[in-house]
Amino acid sequence: MQTSFNVKTKSRTDLADITGEVRKAIESLGVTDGAVLVYVPHTTAAVTINESADPDVARDIDAKLSELVPHSGDYRHAEGNSDGHIKSTIVGCSETVLVKDGKPVLGTWQGIFFCEFDGPRTRTVLVGTP
Ligand code: ZN
Repeated sequence: MQTSFNVKTKSRTDLADITGEVRKAIESLGVTDGAVLVYVPHTTAAVTINESADPDVARDIDAKLSELVPHSGDYRHAEGNSDGHIKSTIVGCSETVLVKDGKPVLGTWQGIFFCEFDGPRTRTVLVGTP
């Protein structure tokens, strides 16, 4: 059982808060208790859970990842987006989210972020029962 939604990212790298879309996906799946898998089927994008209260946290994560894995470097991949592939592997392409009473179980400050590492473009996020 799965559903999906699109994310239109705004720049080459971008952490977009998708908590609301994941909430809607959980509702549409009819999952009330258990867990869902939030899965990103892309090789230069990722998903993570972190603080959504202060937008500077997402900005800082994005900036530090770009410092650790710069756009240009000693890469062989001819497409020119090796940094995006590496960041995708570091952050990961899925998160398991617990569900209680039809809602994602998140801490007070937590949000779910789609991580764009080779945008801007329109991406897909899958939400399904594992
Ligand atoms: Zn590539």
